[in-house]
Amino acid sequence: MLLHSNGVVAENFVQIPKIKFTKLFINGEFVDAVSGKLFETIDPRNEEVTARVAEGDKEDVNLAVEAARKAFDHGKWPRMSGFERGRIMMKFADLVEENVEELAVLDTINAGKLLTWGKMVDIPSSANILRYYAGAADKIHGETLKMSRELQGYTLSEPIGVVGHIIPWNVPSAMFFMKVSPALAAGCTMIVKPAEQTPLSALYYAHLAKLAGIPDGVLNVITGFGATAGAAISSHMDIDKVSFTGSGEVGRQVMQAAAAILQGEVCVAGSRVYVQEGIYDEFVRKCVEKAKKWVVGDPFDPQVHQGPQANRKQFDKILSYIEHGKREGATLLVGGKPCSEKGYHIEPTIFTDVKDDMAIVKDEIFGPVMSLMKFRTVEEAIERANKTRYGLAAGIVTNDLNLANRVSRSIRAGIIWVNCYFGFDSDCPYGGYKMSGFGRELGLHCLDQYLQVKSVVTPIYNSPWL
Ligand code: ADP
Repeated sequence: MLLHSNGVVAENFVQIPKIKFTKLFINGEFVDAVSGKLFETIDPRNEEVTARVAEGDKEDVNLAVEAARKAFDHGKWPRMSGFERGRIMMKFADLVEENVEELAVLDTINAGKLLTWGKMVDIPSSANILRYYAGAADKIHGETLKMSRELQGYTLSEPIGVVGHIIPWNVPSAMFFMKVSPALAAGCTMIVKPAEQTPLSALYYAHLAKLAGIPDGVLNVITGFGATAGAAISSHMDIDKVSFTGSGEVGRQVMQAAAAILQGEVCVAGSRVYVQEGIYDEFVRKCVEKAKKWVVGDPFDPQVHQGPQANRKQFDKILSYIEHGKREGATLLVGGKPCSEKGYHIEPTIFTDVKDDMAIVKDEIFGPVMSLMKFRTVEEAIERANKTRYGLAAGIVTNDLNLANRVSRSIRAGIIWVNCYFGFDSDCPYGGYKMSGFGRELGLHCLDQYLQVKSVVTPIYNSPWL
């Protein structure tokens, strides 16, 4: 395993800009938390403090909801034409793109994400998600109803109201825009709570939203912890809908607190790999070769394939799964250890001799750990692949078109990648089956989650045709 640049400071690769936004964003202003409290964000590369950020709690959520409520009930955002909303959102997207360098750095020092990935993929696709929904903002309409009696009716698609978005740390920018963009297009107002590990880019986006012309109160950002700020959002009586992405366990808590429809968990790591027996040995050999060449290190370094895990909790959790796998009798072929003295780097790890009921297969590890399993028939592979309580994403690799089609239909997961992996786009709905949540993000259907349908009926009198 190469630990390419352990100990090399990021400034060797890029100038880290001064962090500009660390306060809550309520009603168009950056403000301190009512309590005056701050919390620290930790750089996962070296465990140093990168910023002290306002720690929002219930009272701050109340202020943000009040602002969002006012902006929804009396403000212009839900009332302006969809075309106008779309124009402002387009401008917002341009500003995101113009600031890509600085934004990518924020996600790297917060979540350990590779800088090049942030610059080339995460932030540009975030801007494109915003553009996709900007284009949809003036295409929201209801239906005309042909009713069976002397009545005429139509439906209106109206924004659902004030939305609370609770965001995880794994893809801070894309998750922010997957939630915020359709809600903005629909004409909703909102309170966003980024994960406590990754608050910085969300605050920057709030600043850009204001610059683009999004009216005060429409987009509020409350930074803080799940059990306090998050819980205050999910149980707030004046919030009409909560959209949550995170762990299943917290999802259930949020669901109990909120009556609204939730969205699912996001994690598509290809951690369970079923390989047909004829190619199994060669496949294992190639995987090990590849893992050994995999460069773990500073995410600012363009030569690095894999940065640190985002935080201490996740780092410890992944290592404990690896230990568990060894204890349960799986063979650790490569990796399995931390690979730096400071920071949350973990070696890419491959297990074989894995049984379907081991924790490393059943649970969601959320780290660089892969289990390779052998199968004989396709039916067996389908059955075993489906024997999980999760179902977010699956990949199929085959040259047989019919097989690809057959397996795609049989696997119970929200997205199936055939001869590729990790293929996302703004118009491709994304979300999980089973315990990987419900609701979809991206795609036009997702707009419906932020709209509600109203039927309007009038009688028709004296019609010669009825
Ligand atoms: P993960 O570590 O899998 O991303 P969590 O589910 O712990 O997941 O966190 C996802 C988001 O949910 C974060 O923004 C977090 O602060 C928030 N959160 C955590 N606990 C709660 C809670 N009890 N109520 C509302 N939000 C919460």
